[in-house]
Amino acid sequence: MNVDAVMDYDEVMAAYEPVIGLEVHVELNTASKMFCSCSTSFGAEPNSQTCPVCLGLPGALPVVNAAAVASAIRIGLALNCSIATWCRFARKNYFYPDMTKNFQTSQYDEPICFDGHVEVELDDMVFTVPIERAHMEEDAGKSLHVGGATGRIQGADHSLLDYNRAGVPLIEIVTKPVTGCGAKAPEIARAYVGFLRDMMRALGVSDVRMEQGSLRCDANVSLRPHGVTTLGTRTETKNVNSLRSVERALRYEICRQGAILASGGKVKQETRHWHEDGEYTSAGRSKEQAEDYRYFPEPDLVPVAPSPEWVAELATTIPPSPTARRAQLRQQWGFSAAEMRDVVAGEALDLIEATVEVGCDPQAARKWWMTELTRRANALGVSLDQVGVTPAQVGEVQALIDEGVINDKVARHVLGLVQAGDGSPRRIVADHGLAVVNDQSQLQAAVDQALAENPDVAESVRAGKVQAAGVLIGAVMRQMKGQVDAQTVRRLIEATLTD
Ligand SMILES: [Zn+2]
Repeated sequence: MNVDAVMDYDEVMAAYEPVIGLEVHVELNTASKMFCSCSTSFGAEPNSQTCPVCLGLPGALPVVNAAAVASAIRIGLALNCSIATWCRFARKNYFYPDMTKNFQTSQYDEPICFDGHVEVELDDMVFTVPIERAHMEEDAGKSLHVGGATGRIQGADHSLLDYNRAGVPLIEIVTKPVTGCGAKAPEIARAYVGFLRDMMRALGVSDVRMEQGSLRCDANVSLRPHGVTTLGTRTETKNVNSLRSVERALRYEICRQGAILASGGKVKQETRHWHEDGEYTSAGRSKEQAEDYRYFPEPDLVPVAPSPEWVAELATTIPPSPTARRAQLRQQWGFSAAEMRDVVAGEALDLIEATVEVGCDPQAARKWWMTELTRRANALGVSLDQVGVTPAQVGEVQALIDEGVINDKVARHVLGLVQAGDGSPRRIVADHGLAVVNDQSQLQAAVDQALAENPDVAESVRAGKVQAAGVLIGAVMRQMKGQVDAQTVRRLIEATLTD
């Protein structure tokens, strides 16, 4: 339940400037863990993917995963960062049951990537988000609290620990304080996280599924009166697990901090939790200062010193940024700026691209994904890519329209049947007799041919064995490639035979 006072957003904006900061953790999709050869595959039997290194047993020695370092460098290059010629790992010391070593192997003052920036598009404007660093670290295990009502530790009987995730490679990407966003700060934060997600996907370094935790975002915000250059006290909202929540959580925090400052109070520096259901944040622990972790260089790992040749080679593998890619696709597809903005906001870009790749007209692909399928996804409360219809199937439906086999109205019905799992669009059109047959002479020719090829069957149907007509109907359907209604065929056969 929300107990905090909040101020109207526009009123806060009239008095204060928000300064945001984002920390995004990206789980890499390497086959093995950061410092050992254990598998990283998701969903295995608990504790089946562990070894002395990732369990932190005494004497176990870690070795750096070269594929993870390559991904880290590629991410840094995609974020326009400088790449360290020499850097070390550090121990971040803390005790928590999901971290058996009692320290996390991370990077502290020597990150592998630093001083970058990305350009994020919002409403036809481009904002530059400055990047402080992107560093390598390892994930922790997972705790499962059993017996409580909510799955939280409070009220639980006992906790179970699964260390399969312990040691999975992570890249933490940290922005510098982002200023000058004004009232658009929450939307820019959302657009930035969306940019990172799309960029990571284009790089192929992560699954970037926010709901599964392979992309996690902590969002900081502070307020300062207009004209003041020093930063206010910030709060950090943890593990906001959707793009929409990034925007909403920041908007809420701005309204909450505004109410505190306007009443003469002081914002407390702390970690906060976002409650998706009630759309508010609540206080977590007060934020540790960096020195509480007693960082020191990791003595068991050799420094990472990527050669300039290797970095140059990796630089050749960086795809265009999502912003550049959108501009390119928009031009190729002939979409208006508003159409492209809606497509991006509707999470339909990749789906439309895949539909166009199977030969569909871009505007037709846009129409299906942005209207009928968006409506169906909303009705189910799922994201568009979970709607149960694939780009190839949308392409097939449009091909059926282009071939004159079905019309728009029937196409919508067919999509519903595809979604229900009835099979491919062509199959559905054939099975349900949904095709529009315009060419009566072609159909009559097919019927005549079937009768000529099956004289015995034709004779028994004529003699009153109506069920024998199935063979003839089947022959006609094959001849017509299914683009004909079975009942129409039956009537035509009967009419021909009684002529
Ligand atoms: Zn291991």
